[in-house]
Amino acid sequence: MELETIIGLEVHAQMNTKTKMFCACDNDAWGKAPNTTVCPVCMGHPGTLPVPNKAVIEKAVRSSKALKCTVNRHSHFDRKNYFYPDLPAGYQISQYKFPLASHGSVKFSITDPKTNLSEPSECRIHRLHIENDAGKLTHTAGSSLCDYNRAGTPLMEIVTEPDLRSAKAASAFVEELRRILINAGSSEADMFKGMMRFDASISLRPKGDTKLYPRVEIKNLNSFKSLEKALNYQERVLTKLWQEGKAPTGEVTVGWIDDEERTQMLRDKESAADYRYFPEPDIPPLELSDAFIASVTSAMEKLPSEMKEEYTAAGLTQAEATMLVDSEGLRTRFDTVKIVLGDAKRASSIVLTQMPGFLTKHSKALDDAPSAEALRELAEAMKSGKISTNAGKDVLEKMVSTGKSAATIIKDEGMGQVADDATLTKIITEALAANPKAVQNYKEGKTAAIGAIVGAVMKQTKGQADAAKVNALLLKLIV
Ligand SMILES: [Zn+2]
Repeated sequence: MELETIIGLEVHAQMNTKTKMFCACDNDAWGKAPNTTVCPVCMGHPGTLPVPNKAVIEKAVRSSKALKCTVNRHSHFDRKNYFYPDLPAGYQISQYKFPLASHGSVKFSITDPKTNLSEPSECRIHRLHIENDAGKLTHTAGSSLCDYNRAGTPLMEIVTEPDLRSAKAASAFVEELRRILINAGSSEADMFKGMMRFDASISLRPKGDTKLYPRVEIKNLNSFKSLEKALNYQERVLTKLWQEGKAPTGEVTVGWIDDEERTQMLRDKESAADYRYFPEPDIPPLELSDAFIASVTSAMEKLPSEMKEEYTAAGLTQAEATMLVDSEGLRTRFDTVKIVLGDAKRASSIVLTQMPGFLTKHSKALDDAPSAEALRELAEAMKSGKISTNAGKDVLEKMVSTGKSAATIIKDEGMGQVADDATLTKIITEALAANPKAVQNYKEGKTAAIGAIVGAVMKQTKGQADAAKVNALLLKLIV
């Protein structure tokens, strides 16, 4: 029997607001001592009142738009009741029946590592809602420690439709989702800091069948690699069960044990009824006006996939386009240089090849690299013919190593003197006089002979003359 794999995901992404979701505590607890960014609200003390953070709503609306979702004009918060030591209030404030946004889609591509070919794909988004995170437990020998710094951190939960058909597709989808959230400015989505976590549901069905069979939910995966490995593992387990005629009859929840690369049964899957959802009585429903939605989404950048298409259409490779989409620092520099030079390949050579090479050579990071404005000055000097492409490369290296501006380096090094026609004409006339044989050969039709004269001029100008300009002047003078 040929089987088809059906995968759906729930993604939790921590939001990058300054303060937490319902209180004024610092939302950035990274590196801070346990239980130092807490207050009675996020500790769930009785009698405290949550106040929704406007920035959370704004950022979640932007993300919803970027995921092509409909932002619901009416949504509200619900209490999701369960007991766990990292949840001091005994409930999480989430959204249940009326989420912030629904019905979106994400376009992404699945790249075959062997052929490097990309296959376009799409996954529909079922819903996006907002909720607060729980604290963090650290289990040591004989005891467990609670750190509530993370309690109250705003989360976006993004639930997909069961549109993914392989573990590879699932990881390609979350990589694109990560790009979209970073680009929308709503999450740092730093995997190392656990800012994005996944629950994956997987089931199999006979190919051609349209109904969905009971699924296995794999909880709390926190890297692209573990997501892909866990899904591949569970797919093998399910395939074996189907082949033995023992396909699952009920939904189960499993945990992924990274060290042993296997899943472990946790419990029968809990249902919504287990959580006793009810409307959050301390927060009024969220009513979003068209004007509010328009104001927070009007200045949004293009989607990463749209940027990528534009860059490849301009002549860049997939890899170059991906580098630009993934790094705002490289992107603003590239866009600036490209506007001046009007040539994507030349801009790519300067920003994506030469500059990173010089940064590595001089042990510097992108933060220390010449700014977009500094590179604009360099590009303008090249465009105007003040310095040649070759000289531009030397100037760029000095900009990286010294931090000086292009203009200062050109002046200090005595560059950019040979661009004026009078100086060049004088040097070319001398070169013609010094190479009579080459001149004679050229006049006899051996056009390649001109190379010797160009070479002499470039040598005389220490490579600083603009080769195109030298050629043009030379052709005028040689006749
Ligand atoms: Zn607090």
